[in-house]
Order: sequence, then C-alpha cells, then structure tokens
Amino acid sequence: MKPPLQTGSFIDEAAIQQVLDSVRPDPVAIREVLAKARQAQGLDAREMAMLMTVSEPEHLEELFASARQVKEDIYGRRLVLFAPLYVSNLCSNECAYCAFRAGNKSLQRKALSQEEVRAEVQALVDQGHKRLLIVAGESSGKQHGLHYIMDCIATAYSVKTDRGEIRRINVNLAPLEVEEFRQLKTSGIGTFQLFQETYHRDTYRRVHLAGPKSDYDWRVTAMHRAMAGGIDDVGIGVLFGLHDWRFELLAMLAHIRSLEEHCGVGPHTISVPRMEPAHGSDVSIGPPAPVSDLDFKKIVAILRLTVPYTGMIMSTRESAEMRDQTLALGISQISAGSRTNPGAYKSGGDSETFEAAQFQLGDHRELDEVIREVAGMGYLPSFCTACYRLGRTGQDFMDLARPGEIKDHCNPNAVATFLEYLQDYASPETRQAGEAAIAREVAGMEGVARQRSESMAARVRRGEHDVIC
Ligand code: SAM
Ligand code: SF4
Repeated sequence: MKPPLQTGSFIDEAAIQQVLDSVRPDPVAIREVLAKARQAQGLDAREMAMLMTVSEPEHLEELFASARQVKEDIYGRRLVLFAPLYVSNLCSNECAYCAFRAGNKSLQRKALSQEEVRAEVQALVDQGHKRLLIVAGESSGKQHGLHYIMDCIATAYSVKTDRGEIRRINVNLAPLEVEEFRQLKTSGIGTFQLFQETYHRDTYRRVHLAGPKSDYDWRVTAMHRAMAGGIDDVGIGVLFGLHDWRFELLAMLAHIRSLEEHCGVGPHTISVPRMEPAHGSDVSIGPPAPVSDLDFKKIVAILRLTVPYTGMIMSTRESAEMRDQTLALGISQISAGSRTNPGAYKSGGDSETFEAAQFQLGDHRELDEVIREVAGMGYLPSFCTACYRLGRTGQDFMDLARPGEIKDHCNPNAVATFLEYLQDYASPETRQAGEAAIAREVAGMEGVARQRSESMAARVRRGEHDVIC
C-alpha cells in the first residue's frame, strides 16, 4: 500500500466536467453500455455518464431492468438489516444541513453514558438486531472523542441476553489520523463509514462553515488513512441535494478508483443519503440541488451497474415506498426501526421527536413490520455477520465476490440468521411470511448453497444459535 494521500487532487473537477459536457444522449451508445453493464464487469466514467443521459421511457425501463438483473445475479433476494445507534449529538462543526451543528442552540445536547449505551443496545437486541451502526457528532471535548466511542463499542459488544447479542458494529464517525484508525480497529469494528457529503469543492466550502470538517482535503483523504491504519472495509457516500448528482457520481467513481490504486481495494459499501428536513436548518428544507424521485432511482441503478460488487445502503431517511422501489434496483442493506436521537430506543421516543434528532425520518415502521413486508415482497432478510467475523474482508471479500462464490456463503447465512430471528423475535404474522420466504428461497437454490442452507436451517430449528459458514 502506498502512503496515504494529503490532498484530494484525485477529484479532478475539470476532467469530470469535461466528461459530462462531452456526453450527449445517444440511443445506440446507451444500448451498448447497458449490454456491457449486464455482464457485471463494471463501467468507466464515460459509460457511467452516458447512462446519466437516459430519459426516454423505454431506455429508463431498460436501465432499471439491467440494474435489477445485476442485483439479482450478485445478491439474489438477500437484504441485510441493521440499526443506527446515535450515541452523541455533541458537535463542533457547522454543517449547514445538519441539526447537530454547533450553532443550533435549540437542539437538546446529549452524549450517552455507558449505562445508557447498554440500555439502548439491550432494547435493540430485544428487537432482534444483530448489526449496529454507531453514529456520533464530532465533539471537540476530549471526554467525547475516540476513547469515548471505543468505550461505547466495547459496551455494545458486551451486552448479551438469552436470545442474542450484537455481532457486528460499524461506525459513522469523523475522520481520524492513521494511528487513531489503528486504535479504532482494535475495538473490533466492521466497516468505517464516512460520507464526503459533496465532492464539489466550492459547494463543500459553502455548506461547511466552521470546525475541522471545513477542511475538504482532510475529509476526502480519510479513507486512504483508514486503510493505511488497517481498516479494510470502508463505506463512502454523498449527501444528495447539495450539488448536481451527476458530478457527484463521477467524483465518487474517481474516489473509488483512487482507493483501488493506492490501497488495493475499493469501498465495501456506498450509502445514498438524500437530504431530509433537519431541525433549524434552512438548507435542509430547501436543498441547493434537490434530487427528484426519478433521478434518485437512476442514481441507485447507475451505481449498481458501475460498481456491481460494492454493497449499497439505504437508510430510513427514505419513505417506505421509495425504499421498496430501490431495493429491486441495487440496494443490499437497509436500516429498520431507526431513531436518530441519542437515547430514543430505550425511552421508546417516537421517531418523529424532532428536538434531539438529526433529521426527520421517512420510514417509521418497526423492525418486525419492515421484515414482514420485505419478506412478503420476495426478499430474504439477513442478519448475517459471517464475513467480517471469519476474516473475509477487504480484498479477500472481493476475491470471493467477483467470481460469484460468495453466494454459497451469503445465501445459507441469510437463511440461518433469518430463521433465528423468526424463532426468537418475530410476531406470528411475520413468522408466517418469513417461513414462506425461506421455503421459496431454499427451493430455488442449487448445489453447495442448498446443502448448506438445509443443514444450517436444521441446526437452527434444533435450537442452535449463530450458525454461520
Ligand atoms: N459527524 C460525522 C460526520 O459528519 O461525518 C458522522 C455522523 S453524521 C451524523 C452522519 C451523516 O448524516 C452525515 O455524513 C450526513 O451525510 C448525514 N446528514 C446530516 N444532515 C442530514 C440531513 N439533513 N439529511 C440527511 N442526512 C443528513
Ligand atoms: Fe456534526 Fe456530522 Fe452533523 Fe456535521 S453532519 S454537524 S459533523 S454531526
């Protein structure tokens, strides 16, 4: 691995603009790019830009159908579920779109104590969650810095109940130094997530008004440092609504290629947050570059075709309806039953309590209901954490993913973890919908995947927990 970069010169704005300016809608070229995309080998910047020009109904349908096919070939019907855990809304930055920004004096500030973290995790484990995403603002005080977060992670892993425990913790935190990343790694995190928000420098400067986050270069090179610090699963993202989404997608591709070139492997996941109204933020209520529902679906489809093996995450920012539509186009992970105000799981605070929350949620359904609905739509909910725990991360994961071998692990693991959820936590209606989904899924499997699924399911039915391969 080369030494981490100091600047974001790999985001060449002029080159990106030139690609955007040079591509015109061309039905023949669109068809050629889509035919190539269906081979699931990925696309380059020009090809990606060509897909952005799609607007005719028949081409749109072909774009969506191609994304559906690639998603199905690589991920099958699996859908991984997780819950965000907001531990602190203390923040020293001035991100104009976020309710946690330092200048928002009307926000109720809170950093959970370790006892409160324990209570939150207990509430999430009691719902059946196995995967957490720990989220925090960037506190300037030493007391709520990296060591606090590492304590929260240790506390969360230590919660064990008769029915379960959290088996993988990902984090969404401010950028760190290489040495700090090395320390964070020792706490047993899965993915380190960090969103660039916007890759466009001028827009970045206009919405990040003060605090360490106003340094574009420090943020855009964070994933290079994370990898240098030994964290091999990183998750990138853009906050859609700040700048032209076409520019953002091409810049994101440049970020991915730079990570591949410098660190040997690209990101494990891409998140696609779209701006939601946030308490006391005019920018969030009238975003400078709003993304329509149709463009949002195009974003998901184009990303799925450009980087077919990278997981894609959608949060509860989106409505249940939008999430349902985009699952088919390429989303592989969703959050469910989320709260964005620290302490809300235990207190049973409703998802619309705005005063301490980061932003308004679009989907208010509880985990059991989300599971019942996605199972009813033909998906296989999964709580799998096997890859990370068996060391299949970074390049090792990609080596298995590219030839399609990962399916022989993912599908049986999905069946076993979902069955465990159904037996331990589900309501009777959800259990019925889930059993039907499992029966349908296993009947459609062949070879190793089917053998493993059947034998692992039999072990779970006998009462074994945490059966993975
Ligand atoms: N403070 C850290 C940071 O900014 O990177 C990590 C946590 S921050 C709470 C997580 C993400 O929330 C941000 O990266 C941003 O993309 C997203 N976010 C902030 N305000 C939002 C809003 N109004 N709507 C949707 N997402 C928002
Ligand atoms: Fe703080 Fe993150 Fe919100 Fe910015 S996005 S104000 S850094 S919590």
